[in-house]
Amino acid sequence: MSMLNQDDLTLLTGTSNHSLIPWTGQPKGLTPPLIHPALKGPLDELAAKASGAGFTLAVTSAFRSYDQQLAIWNAKARGERTLLNDAGLPLLFDDLSDRDVLEAIMRWSAIPGASRHHWGTDLDIYDLKSLGADKKLELTPQEVAPSGIMGAFHLWLDGLMKQQNACGFYRPYNRDRGGVAPEKWHLSYRPLAQKFDQAYTLSVFHEVISRPGLLLAEYLHDEIEEIFFRYVKNTAPFPEL
Ligand SMILES: [Zn+2]
Repeated sequence: MSMLNQDDLTLLTGTSNHSLIPWTGQPKGLTPPLIHPALKGPLDELAAKASGAGFTLAVTSAFRSYDQQLAIWNAKARGERTLLNDAGLPLLFDDLSDRDVLEAIMRWSAIPGASRHHWGTDLDIYDLKSLGADKKLELTPQEVAPSGIMGAFHLWLDGLMKQQNACGFYRPYNRDRGGVAPEKWHLSYRPLAQKFDQAYTLSVFHEVISRPGLLLAEYLHDEIEEIFFRYVKNTAPFPEL
């Protein structure tokens, strides 16, 4: 039995956003991201802690729909959007086989219908103050490394998480597990994300990769179990709170 309620079940694969709310704590001048209502309190609290430490927590991406993720995926599959290697550097599309393209996409982008961004529980965050007015956010390993412009912000978050004081948030992609590349900027609200994760079974995954219009789908079907466990389920263990 799934522990998700009916509203939440519609979010599992990104086909609905009707139960989400805009986060009103987003810094002024930026578009408020859509979040699950359960995140409002904890995210407000985390933003207040950031502010107390001299940072301005901003969300660059929260909910992403199935259709948005499909557009990202298919653009990468067609070579219309840059593919990155493990170090976050651009790859030459024409040098890659279809299988290589698939691997390169899955390192940095979720399979449509299998993104944690569909749930409203997961956020890509940054410190608006450190970014400065003239810089564009990149979300690269370099940017969040201790010496990068987001370094101090993430070191502060590391400390908060170590003290189990991060308002329920943790990093599912904290280190390289051979699937999705490390993404320090990606936070997940554990109390709810854990329920979504439990509801996300191999049969759910099979349904989403069988939807029409998904490029490279035949390769996903060929190795469905390996890909499911390597790229969808291969995240950090849920921390104690
Ligand atoms: Zn993310």
